[in-house]
Parts: sequence; C-alpha cells; structure tokens
Amino acid sequence: MQTLTDKLSEEVGIDNLKLNSKVLSLSCSFDGSSPLSSWSISYAAHDADNMELKKDQIFDAVIMTAPLCNVQDMKFTKARNPFLLDFLPKVNYLPLSVLITSFKKDKVKRPLEGFGILVPSKEQKNGLKTLGTLFSSMMFPDRAPSDQYLYTTFIGGSRNKDLAGASLDELKQVVTSDLRKLLGTEGKPVFVKHIYWRNAFPLYGLDYNLVLEAIDKMEEDLPGFFYAGNHRDGLSVGKSITSGSKAADHVVSYLNSHIKQDP
Ligand SMILES: Cc1cc2nc3c(=O)[nH]c(=O)nc-3n(C[C@H](O)[C@H](O)[C@H](O)COP(=O)(O)OP(=O)(O)OC[C@H]3O[C@@H](n4cnc5c(N)ncnc54)[C@H](O)[C@@H]3O)c2cc1C
Repeated sequence: MQTLTDKLSEEVGIDNLKLNSKVLSLSCSFDGSSPLSSWSISYAAHDADNMELKKDQIFDAVIMTAPLCNVQDMKFTKARNPFLLDFLPKVNYLPLSVLITSFKKDKVKRPLEGFGILVPSKEQKNGLKTLGTLFSSMMFPDRAPSDQYLYTTFIGGSRNKDLAGASLDELKQVVTSDLRKLLGTEGKPVFVKHIYWRNAFPLYGLDYNLVLEAIDKMEEDLPGFFYAGNHRDGLSVGKSITSGSKAADHVVSYLNSHIKQDP
C-alpha cells in the first residue's frame, strides 16, 4: 500500500501536498460568477519544532475524502454565513483489531497454501472467534524470515464488536486458539503486532441511503464541493480510488462549465 501512496505523491509533487495537516474549516464564497479562488481552507500543520501553526489556502474547488465523522467536526461557511451540517445523519462504524503473528515453520502442522481463510459466523459455535486470516508470507514470501510463517488475523467487525477492543493478551489468546484449530500452530507466536481501528469501516446498513442523500445535499448546496471515498461508493481500496477519480472528473466539468471561455 505504501508503494501506491508514494507513487501518487511523486505524481502530484511533494511540494503540492500538505501532509500531517488537519483541515479545520472551509469557506465557500462562490457568488455565481467565477468559481476561481472561491474556497478558502484553514488547516493546522506542525513546524520543524512540532509547534502547531494555523494556515489558510485558497482553492477553486474541493474534493473531500475525510470520513463523515471527521467532516462533522469541520466548520463550514457559505457566503460568510455558517453552513450547518446538522442534516448529516450519524454514521455507524465497525471496530476492528488486526493481529499480525508469526510462527516458526516447524510449529505449523498444516501450513495451508493460498491467500487466506474467512471464518463463517456459524463457526463461532465451534469456538472460532476471529473473522479471518491472511497468509501474508504465502502471498509475499519476503515479509517474514525464511524459517517463519506470517499471518494477519482480523477480529471484531459487526459479529464481535466488543472483542475488537479487547486487551492484547485476550486477542493473542483468541488468535492463537483459532490458528491452532485451523492450521495446527503450536505454542505462542514468535512475533506479534497489534493495530486497533476504532472506526475501521462505515457500516452500510439498511438506512444508509440517508447518508448518501446528505452527501448529495452537501454537494448541491456547496458549489465546487465534491465528496469521494469509502463512505460513498464502496469500501474497497479499488472502489475508493474510482470514487476519487469520478470526483476529479466532476471538478473538471464544474470548472469548465463555469469559467467563461475566451472567444
Ligand atoms: C484493517 C483494514 C483492512 C482492510 N483491508 C482491505 C483489503 O484487503 N482490500 C481492500 O480493498 N480494502 C481493504 N480495506 C478497506 C479500505 O482500506 C478502505 O475502505 C479505504 O482505504 C478507504 O479509503 P478512503 O480514502 O475513503 O478513507 P481513509 O483511508 O479512511 O482516509 C481518510 C483520510 O482522511 C483523513 N482525515 C480525517 N479528518 C481529517 C481532517 N480534519 N483533515 C485532514 N485529513 C483528515 C484521515 O487521516 C485519513 O487519512 C481495509 C480497511 C481496514 C480498516
């Protein structure tokens, strides 16, 4: 994944990116004439001494890709009046823990080959508590020392929300137990890394159309504002990229249609 973001930042040019910056407020001043320079964005960045600096920058249009729970914390103004986001419904998120473990090869009795396994929910009655495991070193052999297998296991989601936030000791126990049943691992892993995602995914529930309608309303009411990412067009990386690309096309059409062409 890092390769993808490195390549994208190379294409855009590192000087055109504001990394480690938090958008605080967005102000739209489009009055129906020219959209150029109609957006002002204020953001917090950090200098070399890690001091927080507040900065402003002017743009012609905005593609927002922050999760909606973060957008709700931003202040919007339109023609100098507050633009309230109180019509945005609450989005529910799924929590997830990812536990990366490695085992010495001679301690794995059934080292299945392949991409990984998904655990169906009915297997919970057989004591399996994880959602699935990727066989990371099978897919990418250079990810682990040659005498070890590396596994990436997912815990939590809608099936087991509370377990996602369990202590590292409990998670290690759950993962070790599932891997023992599935792959015949013996003993404890030699390497463990834990990452907890409190808001891993927006939950596309039955009433999610209300969220999509609210995003549409933001775009209709704020000229030059477009929303993309996994809250809108699908959860996968591929779909998020397509969503961003679609939003970029919308920006080009918007600017072309509003900027008067010289004869
Ligand atoms: C554990 C896990 C495993 C996954 N595995 C896969 C997989 O195998 N395959 C797959 O296709 N998908 C996978 N996904 C899903 C996929 O990674 C995400 O849905 C996708 O990356 C979402 O991209 P995004 O750009 O829409 O949102 P995000 O990646 O969530 O990016 C939103 C960005 O907005 C930034 N932000 C928030 N507030 C502000 C602010 N005020 N100012 C500035 N920036 C802000 C955040 O810091 C963040 O960088 C996985 C997700 C998780 C959590």
